[in-house]
Amino acid sequence: MRALNYTIAESADAAVSSFAEANGAARYIAGGTTLYDLMKLGIEQPAHLIDISRIGGLDSIETGGDLLRFGSRALMADVARTPVVRDEYPILAESLLKAASQQLRNMATVGGNLLQRTRCLYFRNGAGSASAVGVYPCNKREPGSGCAAIGGLDRAQAVLGTSDSCTAVAPGDWPVALTAMDAKLEFLGPDGKRSIPIVELYRLPGDTPHLEFNLTPGELLTSITIPKTAAGLTSTYHKVRDRESYAFALASAAVAIEMDGETVTSSRIALGGVATRPWRSEAAERVLNGQPFSAELALRAGQAAFADARSGQHNAFKLELGARVVADALAIAAGRRA
Ligand code: SF4
Repeated sequence: MRALNYTIAESADAAVSSFAEANGAARYIAGGTTLYDLMKLGIEQPAHLIDISRIGGLDSIETGGDLLRFGSRALMADVARTPVVRDEYPILAESLLKAASQQLRNMATVGGNLLQRTRCLYFRNGAGSASAVGVYPCNKREPGSGCAAIGGLDRAQAVLGTSDSCTAVAPGDWPVALTAMDAKLEFLGPDGKRSIPIVELYRLPGDTPHLEFNLTPGELLTSITIPKTAAGLTSTYHKVRDRESYAFALASAAVAIEMDGETVTSSRIALGGVATRPWRSEAAERVLNGQPFSAELALRAGQAAFADARSGQHNAFKLELGARVVADALAIAAGRRA
């Protein structure tokens, strides 16, 4: 049995200090819906858990003014049922409601959801075996060991943002919606506070897939902010998966558009289930902007999103599926015009 220290932090400053004292062997924990899983699999082996679930203010939900602001330990369920989110930002509410079961949404936090690790089956299988490397080689879990997914069972793998070292899909639906909505993330770390656009949080795998986030050790996500926009009303999060509940996306699209009559004046499109990080598609947006909306235009936008895609043995279907998911999402959003 391995020893495990456990600290309940009373403030964000105290949590960051506790992390520093653990010399890099710590993890923050709130809902625990991902981290405990990974600890049971032997993928995460922290010597110290710092519980942030009782820190006052980190669960706040603010909807006044020009921004939506969610404390990082606000529950997914609470954010999804916030009236402004539910009624004016379906892209956000739907991404949360389609992300997990009600039981999980009652435990999981909106901050923890952004920092999930991949569901690549080779990453998760075998790590808890007697071998330190696990049954399958995985560069993300054990740098330099190889990648069992490349040339293996790759039906669920990414087709955008991949490298010769890793093709793992970024999990999560909420991060995709936040990417479309230009969210910013606020952190408190050993060097103080900083704020970054969400697109800067996630790294491409390149030849260092074990480095997933642009974070310095000990940085604590404290809040998520989203600029308010009228595009929230004409938005959606559309997700296609193997079964209609409790499954990760094969392909998803978060879209928000603004229109003047029949003309699309601005668009935001982000993809999930197909890329190694939440994937903003400016190529698809360029196809749409300034054009009269039609089903044909929406499909062309979807196809543009996958122009640079690279498939493996079993996941080429994601190119066609992904393009059609974008097109369907755009039709849903356009249909929500007042
Ligand atoms: Fe590991 Fe990435 Fe390969 Fe999956 S795709 S086995 S996470 S290196």
